[in-house]
Amino acid sequence: MIRLSNIKKSFGENQVLHGVNLSVDTGEVVSIIGASGSGKSTFLRTINFLEKADSGSITIDDLTIDVEKVNDKEIVNLCKKTAMVFQSYNLFRHRTALENVMEALIIVQKKSKHEARDIAIAELERVGLLDRINYYPHQLSGGQQQRVGIARALAINPKVMLFDEPTSALDPEMVGGILDIIRSIAEQGRTMIVVTHEMNFAQEVSDKVAFFAAGNIVEIERTKEFFTSPKKVLTHQFLRHMK
Ligand code: ATP
Ligand code: MG
Repeated sequence: MIRLSNIKKSFGENQVLHGVNLSVDTGEVVSIIGASGSGKSTFLRTINFLEKADSGSITIDDLTIDVEKVNDKEIVNLCKKTAMVFQSYNLFRHRTALENVMEALIIVQKKSKHEARDIAIAELERVGLLDRINYYPHQLSGGQQQRVGIARALAINPKVMLFDEPTSALDPEMVGGILDIIRSIAEQGRTMIVVTHEMNFAQEVSDKVAFFAAGNIVEIERTKEFFTSPKKVLTHQFLRHMK
């Protein structure tokens, strides 16, 4: 279970998040959609402190932190519970696929090299990359790099997986395979927050969909209701525009 309460964030004068609230139950998948620049990525990044929110609280299972009073140890503990998959993969360029997946297992989780290697190989196999484990990122296609990104996130067995437009940098022919992998992760009951502009995908995999506009969640509904009978005018307009 993850609960974000009243998350606020400004960059200088520009307030980007206006007190966002979101709760996701264990095993639930919530997709976030919304216009470019509305603050979706910033919101996702405040969850794992890639951006530090100005205020608000974050709960993951039994750990609650107040962003204004948090200490480094709490940040580390919170971050251990999440893993993020990025639009631009964010792999270490000078490490192989295998080394990229092993990294956090050794550094953060303090696993032995041997154990980290076994886990990493299993996760790379799960995303269909067993034959590429010793390749460097530049030797892999975008879709393959994103598979490494997903394997890296899965390997740490997070309580919550965060996806920030995981397919939007990919060539169209790569998108389906990545969405299939994410779909299969969702079906295994992992708690996930997925920022996406793939409406069909959001419709298929999500338990709930949240519409983000101007730094807040304007509407969140169960997926079917969201797409068939959105309650807010803004949501309605956005969905009409997306068709
Ligand atoms: P997109 O759909 O294009 O990815 P988004 O909804 O993810 O958009 P964000 O990336 O969260 O939007 O950006 C929201 C606003 O915050 C934008 O106005 C952006 O310029 C601003 N912003 C984001 N990161 C920073 C930063 N590090 N410094 C200053 N402003 C930032
Ligand atoms: Mg974004």
